Amino acid sequence: MTEHTKTDGLPAMEAATTFGTEPQVLERARPRSERMASEKIECNACPVLCQISDGRSGACDRYANQGGTLVRVDPVVLLRRALVDASAPLVPFAGRTGEEAGAPDWSGDLLLADEVFVTGVGASTTYPDYKPAPFIVASKAQGVDMVTVVTEGIFSYCSFKVKIDTDRYLGPEQANVRCKGEVVGHVTTAEYGSQMLSLGGVHHLTGGSKKEGRVTVQMMEALGNKQAVELTIDGGSQLVVQAGRPPIVNGVEEQRMRVGCGSAAVGIFAKQLYGEADEVVVVDDHITGVLTEHQAGRCLDMPRSGIQMRGRKSTPGRYFQVANPGTGWGGTDIADPLSIIEGWDAGVARPGLRLLMTSTTGEHAAWYVLDEALKPVEQPMPESVRRIIARIGDNCEPSLCTVLFLGGAGGSLRAGVTENPVLLTRAIKQALVNVTCGGAPAYVWPGGGITVMVDVLRMPDRSFGTVPTPAIVAPMEFSMRLADYQRLGGHMAHVHSLEQMLQAGAWHNEGAPTARLWAQNPAANPWPLGQPPLLG
Ligand code: SF4
Repeated sequence: MTEHTKTDGLPAMEAATTFGTEPQVLERARPRSERMASEKIECNACPVLCQISDGRSGACDRYANQGGTLVRVDPVVLLRRALVDASAPLVPFAGRTGEEAGAPDWSGDLLLADEVFVTGVGASTTYPDYKPAPFIVASKAQGVDMVTVVTEGIFSYCSFKVKIDTDRYLGPEQANVRCKGEVVGHVTTAEYGSQMLSLGGVHHLTGGSKKEGRVTVQMMEALGNKQAVELTIDGGSQLVVQAGRPPIVNGVEEQRMRVGCGSAAVGIFAKQLYGEADEVVVVDDHITGVLTEHQAGRCLDMPRSGIQMRGRKSTPGRYFQVANPGTGWGGTDIADPLSIIEGWDAGVARPGLRLLMTSTTGEHAAWYVLDEALKPVEQPMPESVRRIIARIGDNCEPSLCTVLFLGGAGGSLRAGVTENPVLLTRAIKQALVNVTCGGAPAYVWPGGGITVMVDVLRMPDRSFGTVPTPAIVAPMEFSMRLADYQRLGGHMAHVHSLEQMLQAGAWHNEGAPTARLWAQNPAANPWPLGQPPLLG
């Protein structure tokens, strides 16, 4: 007899999956091994299936055995439009802990239900996916019956896209990005004034060595939780990246994001520089601008200076590749700006010609006057020119690191919402269901599936967790009209009112959070209920 013929119970299983017949669903699976110590319980919130003794927590520190009950250790985060008392936001669920809830912090007034939003942060999950999401909460928004389906998703297919505002050279495109020596991502395209990195992703989480996966998931958790991460780029720079903070490149904190490339800067400030200098060179790794040759200088009828530049001339007054990329002037590798000047046309240039050289941020700037031999000699910068350089600096926005979480909500997460998961995808694309991550608006990518992208700074603190598979845990909420939820085959039997939820927490016992934590909806975020999704 082969393994396959052992399934004598097949007809019964078929009957169990027949539409309309509800199988018995155990909150906790029977132990895999009869040798498992009886005081241990098995956590089935992820595929690791930790066996946890009383008073201990599992491998991810997110679930613990509390007197024989599996609990989600962290409180579930609830948003309010405004926090009345910011000092006492943690409230145990009455009934679940046996404790009294204390003074009611929500009157139960249905009109005020529009003031409360349940996030997925700390909500727990319902892995292995055959169960409804832990919180399916009915409330009212502007008088309309709504429902919010709340869960913590486990994502192995996910990454962080990091935008680093800097002119400095971070490394070649496609170069490996390392954390603690392990490859955790790569350099992707540069965007205007910024360098993009792609970090994490399934390839590094599960496709390499165990150490690579472990370091990758730790790095991702830290980045998502707004902490600083040290990275090195092969053939490039060392970096410290933290959401909402300036990048630190090779130990130097970046200050300014450039106002534009050298050509753009020449155009923007041409009129202000007119009459103040006879030639202006804006040094830039991308396009170095030369004012008198540039269309801006020509429109101002400025006479040519006779400057001869190094690099590859693109169009009049615009030069590519004047130097190699680096951390010097304008994102090049030069410390001496004169090194990009080939010479001067003796028939055009004249002694006494005033030359301004600046970087695109104004952080580097120098003033020269040509001597009798047509050699630029550095001189103190006139005050009027210094003011223009200061204005270039003022027009540069502060350099920041932006960290976007990018994840695909697979069929299993959707099964927590509806028995027919594709209907959820369709309802989102029809703008009937708002998708948020920890209450923060999530941009939904066009195309198949539910691929969302969210700025971690808009999410509550400590929104991200990990499991050792390794994978990232991230909150996700789907909000819609109750009638639409019913139409898309939602788990109507598990819809609980907000009032019930505030009393008792999740609908299930095993692995549920024991307390809730109030937080204020950040001013930058729209109130998640009653909003259409951010569709791409
Ligand atoms: S790693 Fe965490 S979620 Fe997974 S089984 Fe262990 S305790 Fe549960």
